Amino acid sequence: MIKTEALTYDDVLLQPQYSDIRSRKEIDIGARFNKDINLSLPIISSPMDTVTGGTMAATMSTAGGIGIIHRYNTVEAQVLEVVRAYEARPDDNVIVGAAIGVTGDYFERAQALISAGVDVLCLDVAHGHHLLMKEALIDIRELAPSVHIMAGNVATLQGVNDLSDWGADSVRCNIGGGSICSTRIQTGHGIPGLQTIFECAKTDRNVSIIADGGIRNSGDMVKAIAAGADAVMCGSLLSGTAETPGNVFEDRDGFKYKTYRGMASKEAQMSWRGKYSSFEGVASQVPFRGNVGLLLEDLKRGLRSGFSYSGARNISELQSKAVFVRQTSAGFGESKTHINTRKW
Ligand code: IMP
Repeated sequence: MIKTEALTYDDVLLQPQYSDIRSRKEIDIGARFNKDINLSLPIISSPMDTVTGGTMAATMSTAGGIGIIHRYNTVEAQVLEVVRAYEARPDDNVIVGAAIGVTGDYFERAQALISAGVDVLCLDVAHGHHLLMKEALIDIRELAPSVHIMAGNVATLQGVNDLSDWGADSVRCNIGGGSICSTRIQTGHGIPGLQTIFECAKTDRNVSIIADGGIRNSGDMVKAIAAGADAVMCGSLLSGTAETPGNVFEDRDGFKYKTYRGMASKEAQMSWRGKYSSFEGVASQVPFRGNVGLLLEDLKRGLRSGFSYSGARNISELQSKAVFVRQTSAGFGESKTHINTRKW
């Protein structure tokens, strides 16, 4: 069976539309998730050991999003990160997620995280449309009926529907689209990121859709949300900032950088379990970029501006008004800044 063409972010643009929005302050970019999780900023930081620990989770929550604290450490160490996030923001509005797997210590980890007070439990595996996910979701739903359960990743409508039926409140969608991901090269499997959202958003279940991976700027976020996502999940976009776990290094020229790596990379596997099997990710060095708060402010402004070009005051208006146009490679070239001059 051959399916039709599958589009991704650079293949399309949103057609600008008449707007009666006088000020961008009128625009609400907030997302409403199941179990009363309301985000004023629809951005979630990835559960990766170079992206989200307690400090990032607290900062994401302050900005209106969520951070999902990675699971690549002991249960005790992960609980300490959760405690750190709540202590950094000791008020009722703080929302913290934690990731767990679907095998090994996942149940004990879930119990400890629930006792620590997490608002969101994220069942985090590379291929989420799987029997082990089904069994774990059913167990965790029984353990924590009122906690918001995020699960993934999947790339199909059937995947979203099944995870929802097994107990998920939100589903991370996209297989193989992450900046540090080599799944499509290693396995030949995946679906381009934006097409994944077009397909997954057709669900008739009461489930929130998270566009995960491959989001490089606020323009990609606007496209993902317009295609049907409720929120986006980002790794590389937030990497290299002061709030990510890990040290800042400096090379001989004074260039400062941090590490950003796929959790299935050889390097990450070696450091969290002392050995590696098949690897589907890479490790990289990214420039140190200072505080994530300023970056999130820029992204917020970009999102508001994006909504206004479609004449949309909120996510549901954006989704109902959005008109996507396909662009050619020449159009894509024109869409990037393309002045031919010396770099500042
Ligand atoms: P990015 O925002 O494009 O950097 O993608 C981040 C996303 O990539 C994460 O939220 C995960 O879904 C996914 N991811 C993380 N580590 C790996 C890996 O090693 N291989 C494949 N995908 C990964």
